[in-house]
Amino acid sequence: MKMAIVEGRWTGPIWDTHLHLDLNGRGIAAAQDFANAGGTHLCLVHKPGFPNRLPDSIGAVKDAYTGTLELARSVRREVGLDVRVILGPHPVVWEKQIHTLGLDVATELHLESVALALEFCAEGEAVALGEVGRPHYPVSEAIWSAANEQLETVMHMASQADVPIQLHVEENGAQTNAELAALCDRSGLARKRAIHHYAPSDVSGSFTHGLSSSVSMGKNSLAKIMETYRYCTSTWTMETDYLDDPARPGAVLGPKTVPKRTQTLVQDLLKDLDKGEVEDLLHHVHSFWPNTLYGEIDP
Ligand SMILES: [Zn+2]
Repeated sequence: MKMAIVEGRWTGPIWDTHLHLDLNGRGIAAAQDFANAGGTHLCLVHKPGFPNRLPDSIGAVKDAYTGTLELARSVRREVGLDVRVILGPHPVVWEKQIHTLGLDVATELHLESVALALEFCAEGEAVALGEVGRPHYPVSEAIWSAANEQLETVMHMASQADVPIQLHVEENGAQTNAELAALCDRSGLARKRAIHHYAPSDVSGSFTHGLSSSVSMGKNSLAKIMETYRYCTSTWTMETDYLDDPARPGAVLGPKTVPKRTQTLVQDLLKDLDKGEVEDLLHHVHSFWPNTLYGEIDP
C-alpha cells in the first residue's frame, strides 16, 4: 500500500488498534463505516460479556473467544479489512467474579483464560493478549494487591510466549505508567510490548515511561499529540475503543473517528513539517509500529 499524502490527504493505511464489535450491536455495519471512511486495518479486541454474559468456566471462555475469531473472519470476508484479533480476559470481569466465585476461583479462571488466549496466539489465530490489566475504579486493598500480583503473572506469561499485551488500567497519568513499567521490568516483558490502551494523548517518554500507547482519539487528542510526538521513546497508534453496545449508542467514539482524526492530524502536521516527514510519521503510526506489535510487516 502506498504511503503518500496526495492533495493534503493521507492515502496510506489507517489502523484502529482497539475496537470491539458485537453481532447484537451494529457488528459488520460498524466495520463497513470504518472502511468507508478510509480505514484499512483493525485490532478487533475480544468483548467481555458485560453485564450478564460473563463466562464462568474455561469452556465458556473458549466459546466466547471462538465467537470473536469467527466475527473477525466475517469482517475480513464481507468488508475486506485487515483484521488482527486480540484475545484475553478483562480485569473487570475478574473483579466482578471475585464477588460471585471467590478470589481463588476467579483468579484461576483468569489465568487459565490468559493461557488459552496465548495458545490461540501460538496458532496464529490471535496476535496479542488483551485487554488485561487491573480495575479502573477503587477496590479494597486486598483486591488491589491481588490485581497487581496477578498482572505481574500475566505479564510474565506474555513475555515467555513473546506476545504483546494491551492494558486496561485506571487513569492516573504518569503515575500509572511508572507503576506498569516497574511491573514490566519485574516480569521480563519489554515495556514497548505493553500497550496502554485508552491511553491519554501525551506520547512523550517522560509520560509513558517507555510503554506503547494506543491513544484514545477523542476531540481534544490532537493538540497534545502535536505537543509531544517528537518526544516519543516507544510507539503510539490510534484507537476508538468503539464498544458497539446497543444499550449505549454514541456513548463512545464511533468507528469513523480514527480515519477522520488522521486527516486532521495531517493538516496540523503539514504546518510544522515537510510532506516527506509527515508521510514518515503517518507510516509509523498506521503501519510500521502496529505491524511490529500485531503481526507481519507489509512488504
Ligand atoms: Zn476496550
